[in-house]
Amino acid sequence: MDLQEYLAESRGLTEARAKGGMAGAWDIIGTSGDHDQCERCGKSNLKKCVVMQSRDHADESGEIYVGTRCAAILKGRGESSKSQAFMWKKAQEAQRDHAKASDMKTLKRITGSRFYKQLKIAAGSKGPDRSRVVTNSIDRMSRDTNMKPDEIRAYLSGRGWKGI
Ligand SMILES: [Zn+2]
Repeated sequence: MDLQEYLAESRGLTEARAKGGMAGAWDIIGTSGDHDQCERCGKSNLKKCVVMQSRDHADESGEIYVGTRCAAILKGRGESSKSQAFMWKKAQEAQRDHAKASDMKTLKRITGSRFYKQLKIAAGSKGPDRSRVVTNSIDRMSRDTNMKPDEIRAYLSGRGWKGI
C-alpha cells in the first residue's frame, strides 16, 4: 500500500480504531511553516502544521503534513484540545532535535574538511593577504565538503567567526 492509500485508509478510522491500530504507525518528526493544508482532512489555513512520517514508508520519506487535530487522531489520542496541544509540543521538540542534529552534521562536515585547519589559521591571521587566503581556503573547503562557499561563510559567521 503506498503512502497516499495508507493515509486515505486512516481517514476512515474511528478514534477507537486509531487507538489500537495507528498509534505506532506514525511518528511525529517536526513542524512545517510551508504547508497550511492538512493532508488528512483537507482543512486549510492551518496555523500549526505537524510533519508526521509513516513507519512503513520511512525509506521513501513517507512524510505527511497534518493539523494538530489529525495528528492527535493518528496517534490514537482522540481530538481534545489537550491532545492537540500535546501533539504540537511534541512536534516542536522533534523540530528542535532535528535542527540540532543537522547543525551537528554540518559542523562535522566543515571541521572534517582537509582545509579546515588552513582556514582557521587564515581567519585568525592579520596579514595583508588575509582575505585572499580566507577566500582561497573556503573555495577549497567548498569542493571538499560539497557545500557552497556562502553556506560555509554563513555557518561559521553564525558560530562567531569574524570577517568570514
Ligand atoms: Zn486534518
